[in-house]
Amino acid sequence: MPEVHETIAGFRAALELAREDERGIGFVPTMGYLHEGHASLMRQASAENETAVASIFVNPLQFAANEDLGAYPRDLERDLALADECGVAHVFTPSVAEMYPVPVLTTVSVGGVTERFEGASRPEHFAGVATVVAKLFSIAGPCRAYFGDKDFQQLAVVRRMVADLSMPVDVVGCPIVREPDGLAMSSRNVYLTPAQRAAAPALHRGLQAAAAAAADGERNVDRVRAALADAVAAEPEATLDYAELVDALTLEPATVVGGTEQRLLVAARFGTTRLLDNLAVDLP
Ligand code: AMP
Repeated sequence: MPEVHETIAGFRAALELAREDERGIGFVPTMGYLHEGHASLMRQASAENETAVASIFVNPLQFAANEDLGAYPRDLERDLALADECGVAHVFTPSVAEMYPVPVLTTVSVGGVTERFEGASRPEHFAGVATVVAKLFSIAGPCRAYFGDKDFQQLAVVRRMVADLSMPVDVVGCPIVREPDGLAMSSRNVYLTPAQRAAAPALHRGLQAAAAAAADGERNVDRVRAALADAVAAEPEATLDYAELVDALTLEPATVVGGTEQRLLVAARFGTTRLLDNLAVDLP
C-alpha cells in the first residue's frame, strides 16, 4: 500500500528523499474517487519516473457556494487500493485545515485561457485550481506532473501558469479514458440518473461527428460546430452549455477549420450534473 501523508511537512520530506534518484518523481494531483482515468495517469507516472506520487484533495477554493463541494464523492480505502495497483508510492491526503489553516490572501490568477468556457460558467473556478496546483507544486518540488486531456482547459491553465512562473515542473497531458459507450470517465458520472447516463454518450458522438466532418473536408467552422451542437441538442436529457472549435494552445475560438492544432470542446448539463468532453481535430 502507498504511504499516506496527511501533513505538508511529511509529504515534502518523503519527496525530498525520493528525489535523490535521477529518474525523478511523477506527481498526479486528484480530487479522489479514483477511476480508470486517474489510474491511467498514475500508471504513466509510475512507468516514466522512479517514484510515482498522488494527492487526493477536494479543494474548496475551486467550488462556488452553489456547487457540489459537500456532496463530492469520496472513498479513500478504494482510492488507496487503486493507487497501490498503479505503483504509487506516496499519497498526500491533507485536510482542508492542513492546506488552508487561515483564509488564503494569496491566489494565482491566470488570464486569457481562463476567460471562456469553464471560466465563463464558473467565475472563481480557475483561480481556485491554479492556486491549489501552485501550492501542491510548491510542496512537491521539481517533478513531472500528470494531468488528463479530459479537463482540457484546466491543462491549458496549468501549462500557462508553470510557463509564466517558471515552476520546476514538467506538465504531461494524458489521453482521455472512456467508458465502452464513449462517455468520458468522471467522478461526477455517479450523479447521473439511469436516463441521464444513457443520454450522456451524446457528447462523444457529437465530438466524433464534428471531427469526422472536419476530416472529410468541411472548412466552415459554423457547420463543424453545428455537427457537435446538434448531436447534443437531439438528446432531450441534455442542455448544451457550449460547443466550440478552438485553438488547442490559446483556446481562442477558431475562425477557420485547420491551420493550427485545434480542439473541439463541449459542455452540457444533464439535470444538475455538468459534463465536459473534448476531442482533437486531426486533419490529413
Ligand atoms: P479530478 O480528480 O477530477 O480533479 O481529476 C484529476 C486528474 O485526472 C485531472 O488531471 C483530470 O483531467 C484527470 N482525469 C479525470 N478523468 C479523466 C479521464 N476520463 N481520462 C483521463 N484523465 C482524467
